[in-house]
Amino acid sequence: MLQGMTTLTHLECSLCGKIRPAGVAHNLCECGGPLLVRYDLEALKSGWSREWIVSGPSSMWRYAPVLPVSKPASMISLGEGWTPLIRAKNYGAAVGARNLWVKDEGLNPTASFKARGLACCISMCHELGIRKVALGSAGNAASATAAYAAAAGIEAHIFMPRDVPQANYIECLAFGAKVTLVDGLISDCGRMVAERKDAEGWFDVNTLKEPYRIEGKKTMGYEVAEQFQWKLPDAIFYPTGGGVGLIGMWKAFEEMEALGWIGPERPKMIVVQAEGCAPMVRAFEQGAERATFWENASTVAAGLRVPKPLGDFLILRAVRESAGTCVAVSDRASLEAGAKLAREDGIFAAPEGAACFAALEQLLQTGFLKAEEKIVVYNTGSGLKYLEAYSTLWPRVAGGEADKLGGLVTPR
Ligand SMILES: *Cc1c(COP(=O)(O)O)cnc(C)c1O
Repeated sequence: MLQGMTTLTHLECSLCGKIRPAGVAHNLCECGGPLLVRYDLEALKSGWSREWIVSGPSSMWRYAPVLPVSKPASMISLGEGWTPLIRAKNYGAAVGARNLWVKDEGLNPTASFKARGLACCISMCHELGIRKVALGSAGNAASATAAYAAAAGIEAHIFMPRDVPQANYIECLAFGAKVTLVDGLISDCGRMVAERKDAEGWFDVNTLKEPYRIEGKKTMGYEVAEQFQWKLPDAIFYPTGGGVGLIGMWKAFEEMEALGWIGPERPKMIVVQAEGCAPMVRAFEQGAERATFWENASTVAAGLRVPKPLGDFLILRAVRESAGTCVAVSDRASLEAGAKLAREDGIFAAPEGAACFAALEQLLQTGFLKAEEKIVVYNTGSGLKYLEAYSTLWPRVAGGEADKLGGLVTPR
């Protein structure tokens, strides 16, 4: 039940502005810049309306005219997107934020927002006749790639750091992907893909190395607008690894303004990173335009372990233009904030999403944010995918005290 398919016109380099035709497989621009998809928003202005969207599918495909897929037969969908926006009333009351909301992306297929990006990317691979894809991932991107590739009948070659959360590893195997565990970081995994892809005939679907994942992720921006009756909140907290979700939302806001659906106002975009890997926080504080490689990156929030985001300049631009900021928090503070959110409001967030709650407390204390502001935190994944990390808070569960005692727990 689509209102109409894409109005894609061309691809444009985010760095040098060079224009390319769509309809063929593309990776980066030769200048090294990620490519962005452009649409005929002028035509859409009269041919599409916010009222029509209401009767569209209950998934991210309700925004099909601003997604790149050209025909329904290309769509590989597992029900991604249109996630709930939930009031975190009790947590908000506890920390002094009266208008606090969680966009719960943990409810997506494969339990993270990565489903949005990969649904779009793999649909485009299917449309363009690509048979084999490859990527390096520190976690959820791998699970989502494996799932959508399985649904599309595409071969998935996945490179993951050896210490990736167990859930991601098992999911990939369950979905039938070819998995290689790497002694290194996501950057090493990405390099292995780059080295082997030509010989193997793989299409590289690493973060921002192809233009379509960001299009799926941008629907988080359309949804928050629609769910708040086309009025954006005052601040958005986003746990930032590669920053694709944030860049995507920023693009969505631009598109919606061009469509006449929102005004020029923007939420303060707040980038949250882990203290053990905070290249964007460092670049922001130094007033730099690009980030530098973060050595020895380490955090339990696997999605935040990106030592040098490819779209660093786009992230910084969005943060600065929106008068936002960048904050780093410790793993311990993230997990404790996650436990508090679970206890207060019944939402079990991934450590990435939980990190945003720890950062929120900091920004309320410093007065950067006011109690009455409307704040949305993106919980990018489910806490259930990070049992190893959370079990450190409750040491009697598997991996903790019970294991030290030889796995024996005596029933009372
Ligand atoms: C990948 C991931 C992130 C980081 O996403 P980007 O948009 O690449 O910054 C955050 N949280 C979770 C759970 C993730 O899987």
